[in-house]
Amino acid sequence: MSAFSETDILVIGAGPGGSVAASVANLNGLKVRVIEKARFPRFVIGESLLPRCMDALEKADLLGAIEECGFQKKYGAKFIRDGKVCEFSFSDQYTDGHTWTWQVPRSEFDHKLITEVAKKGVQVEFERSVTGIEFDEDHALVTTENEAGEKEVIKAGFVIDSSGYGRVLPRLLNLDKPSNLPPRKSVFMHVKDAKRTEGAASDVITIIDHKPGVWVWVIPFSNGNCSVGFVGDPDYFDTFEGDEMEKFKTMIDSVDFTRERFKDIPYLWDAPKVLSGYAISTLKFYDKHFALTGNAAEFLDPVFSSGVTFAMESGVRAAELACRQLKGEEVNWKKDYEDYILDGVNVFRSYVMAWYDGSLQDIFFAKTSNPEIKSMICSVLAGYVWDKTNYYVKEHGHAIHTLSGIVRMYG
Ligand SMILES: Cc1cc2nc3c(=O)[nH]c(=O)nc-3n(C[C@H](O)[C@H](O)[C@H](O)COP(=O)(O)OP(=O)(O)OC[C@H]3O[C@@H](n4cnc5c(N)ncnc54)[C@H](O)[C@@H]3O)c2cc1C
Repeated sequence: MSAFSETDILVIGAGPGGSVAASVANLNGLKVRVIEKARFPRFVIGESLLPRCMDALEKADLLGAIEECGFQKKYGAKFIRDGKVCEFSFSDQYTDGHTWTWQVPRSEFDHKLITEVAKKGVQVEFERSVTGIEFDEDHALVTTENEAGEKEVIKAGFVIDSSGYGRVLPRLLNLDKPSNLPPRKSVFMHVKDAKRTEGAASDVITIIDHKPGVWVWVIPFSNGNCSVGFVGDPDYFDTFEGDEMEKFKTMIDSVDFTRERFKDIPYLWDAPKVLSGYAISTLKFYDKHFALTGNAAEFLDPVFSSGVTFAMESGVRAAELACRQLKGEEVNWKKDYEDYILDGVNVFRSYVMAWYDGSLQDIFFAKTSNPEIKSMICSVLAGYVWDKTNYYVKEHGHAIHTLSGIVRMYG
């Protein structure tokens, strides 16, 4: 016999999307419950944030808590190709908004967020998974199960699925939709950043455009460690020999920047972690009694660090709309949720595609650059992808391709 309980809003997953959703719903006075499969702290990738996510943290009343953590501040990003450097400083961005954010070990960041949410009075349960869902006219009936196999059915007025890579509702309700981006692979490691130099801006996130379709991230943390990852076409990784660690060392050796900084320094894991085929979409982002946030809705690509920002933007919005619905208001989920989120996702989609076809790099590494255009592109890189006064947001695909065509012609 399963246990039974009721709540207004059930949030699946305690990642950043789930934490901000739960906090916003709690601030709106609703009864909220979070069900999380893992024991926290737990590792997850996604360590470079965007300034836009500070707005979501503010709305969820969680910014102050994260400020206490002393994470590495991120004021911009540096791109490198063939020794040439292109730097973006968020203080130069076109859109009014936050001009900095953080680079975070996610185990600590996510743990701090959900701990604060629990302190605010939200009931959070770890090591319990959502395994099933049914709907009646007014509720969702969610089946959950803990490690000991003990079941509990939770009747919820609304379910926010923030299960990230778990994609709980898309899987249970057959909502998976292939991404229009090809499958890519990533191999990454945390290392002791022993050769980091003081005062040489070596704590800045660096993206190295290694060869067509292959790039490297370097994300320094305030604890003296650094995240290093290679991303690209799966075939690229087959060109290396040996076990995963040997392959990773050869990759480190094959790129000037990583060879100089990370050769012969201590690696913090026994083997690099490998992820592939992560780009995915969903047939719909909502229904009468649920909304999908973050990776449970859509994930594109790691290159512009948009994942956590989308998780939080969608988490806040889903919670705000769900609260209005449960308080009896009519909510236009298509317009105010799915279309809104896709508006932002599609801006990044254009930039991701322009990165992998090389046109964005032609702009970044052009001999000359127009400061106004650069500030508009900077706002996209800061995550302000809903500001339609920004031409490089409003006309995203067209604007980038026209500009790269001009750059290719005139240098
Ligand atoms: C290689 C790579 C690099 C990346 N780098 C970045 C980056 O630098 N910056 C960035 O912003 N993003 C990055 N991302 C994306 C980032 O990892 C995700 O977008 C982000 O973690 C999504 O947050 P979330 O809250 O949606 O889900 P998650 O952070 O994945 O949290 C979901 C939670 O749901 C729980 N869960 C799963 N199934 C169940 C279940 N059945 N029941 C209950 N709970 C469940 C999980 O245990 C997990 O704790 C990267 C992605 C990849 C693949």
